[in-house]
Amino acid sequence: MTNFILLILLQTEPPSNDSFDVVILAFLSVAVIILAGMTGRVNMGFQVPGFPRPLSAKRKQILNKHFPFYKQLTPDRRKRFEQKVQYFIHVKEFIPRQIPIVTEEMKVLISACAVQLTFGYPKVFLSHFKRILVYPDNYYSTINKTYHKGEVNPRFRTIVLSWKAFVEGYFNPIDGRNLGLHEMAHALRLENLITNAEFNFLDEEVLQHWQYLADQEMASIKEGNSRMFREYAGTDPDEFFSVAIENFFERPEKFKSLMPNLYAILVLLLKQDPLNPI
Ligand SMILES: [Zn+2]
Repeated sequence: MTNFILLILLQTEPPSNDSFDVVILAFLSVAVIILAGMTGRVNMGFQVPGFPRPLSAKRKQILNKHFPFYKQLTPDRRKRFEQKVQYFIHVKEFIPRQIPIVTEEMKVLISACAVQLTFGYPKVFLSHFKRILVYPDNYYSTINKTYHKGEVNPRFRTIVLSWKAFVEGYFNPIDGRNLGLHEMAHALRLENLITNAEFNFLDEEVLQHWQYLADQEMASIKEGNSRMFREYAGTDPDEFFSVAIENFFERPEKFKSLMPNLYAILVLLLKQDPLNPI
């Protein structure tokens, strides 16, 4: 079709009414092709910014092999999940630290983790955080002189992960510990506060209700009476939220039966329910 248009544009006959119509038609055709390319309906042979290609077979295979959350989705929702993963990979810069490259498997699974958390929000991609730093193992932080498994740094717009700890988080999917979800949850809360296109997407009233119940649970944890969260959840409201997210996805039955109100509010906040995937 492109050759056909080029032939029309290159035609050298003197202008007449007919050839004028042909030129208009040619320009309209080009416009249609560009628009179709922008909506992803045709393969233009080049990347239109913001509109990545569909997820490759290799990347889908990685999801199928290693990401149970994806496997349990309906075909329709799988497609949406794939699109979100592809877009996430497309817009983030993955930076290797102490390893030669960030592999396809690392990119796909780290992105899938972010998509799992934000699946209820089709347009939220944690856009403030442009860089994902991947270390092979726990890394030494020169800021507070300790070893870390992961952190979220809004100043440097960066999410940092130890790949070993990330994999361990998914290796045992029901122990309520998941480094990837924990750090993404920190990024989600920060993203909600940062003024940009994704600002304030979490419902304020629901968030207030969440904090009211979270404060009560945190007080119990500090007294040594945690119902299911590990002690670390009592550190501050951010850590409480991240630990709650880990349990929400990894131990939803227990979470719902022991803390039904907190669980129900997380369902509202994240616009998804792990016990009831649509
Ligand atoms: Zn944390």
